[in-house]
Amino acid sequence: MRARFLFGLLLPFPLIFTGCGGSSQPTIITTTSMVADATKRIAGPHWKVECLMGPGVDPHKYQPSASDLGKLSNAKLVLFSGLHLEGKMVDVLEKPAKGRKAVAVTRGLADSDLRAAEPGETIHDPHVWFDVRLWKKCVAVIADELCELDPEHAAEFRANVEAYSKELDDLHGEILEKAAKLPKDKRILVTSHDAFGYFAAAYGFEVHGLQGVSTATESGTQDVESLARVIGEKRVPALFTETSVPSKGLEKVLSTVKEKYKLDVRLIAGDDALYSDALGESGSSGATYIGMVRHNIDAIVKALSQ
Ligand SMILES: [Zn+2]
Repeated sequence: MRARFLFGLLLPFPLIFTGCGGSSQPTIITTTSMVADATKRIAGPHWKVECLMGPGVDPHKYQPSASDLGKLSNAKLVLFSGLHLEGKMVDVLEKPAKGRKAVAVTRGLADSDLRAAEPGETIHDPHVWFDVRLWKKCVAVIADELCELDPEHAAEFRANVEAYSKELDDLHGEILEKAAKLPKDKRILVTSHDAFGYFAAAYGFEVHGLQGVSTATESGTQDVESLARVIGEKRVPALFTETSVPSKGLEKVLSTVKEKYKLDVRLIAGDDALYSDALGESGSSGATYIGMVRHNIDAIVKALSQ
């Protein structure tokens, strides 16, 4: 009886001090791990950044859990990628909530920066982070939001974004240099879904995805056949799986190419699979945005130069 009374009496105190997130630090909620990584770089120790979608999670298909919905309505700031990347969360993210601001980090991109999802379509391809110059603009939006949210630390946020932007400039130069090692006719990137259109435009590649810009649309036999034909005709040596997309579709393409075109094509998977819509586990080469982009270009150059 007494124990229960004490338990009932003591329980509210830690809750008061730690808040519902279990931490005394104020929290910013992000959807993808790329947005989380950039936000952490700018916020430094002042804000806890919590990411809803972990390593290997596909944002196109992600359905928010009940706990996510709670976090989204309690947060002061929610940062998401936008351009319908988070296809099943659009309503939740765009619904106004009292005391909360939700911002698409791609908000600052001009129409001229954006690619159409399909030729002639008005829907945009959301995978802007693969042109490092565009991601730098998104990072600037994150910095502006943090300064508005927490003006007391604005000078620090400004210094952080300036330093990080320099790293991104260097990264852009590094990818251009590494891509240039591949002869032009070898720069053909075949992946599970069309996540690399901005990468292709920025760094001089031709890309073919089995699925479109969203993994929500499954590929059919015709998609497999037509992609196999492109690979057969162009004699593409390698197909790349992605860490956040199942590889079964590309496996079908692979067997079709081998059977119909007698071409020895390799399926790049495991440690050399590309990071497309999610970062990797902590400790992996794709644990940060810069690591992800560097991992991808290294894996691409390695496989296509063979
Ligand atoms: Zn995608």
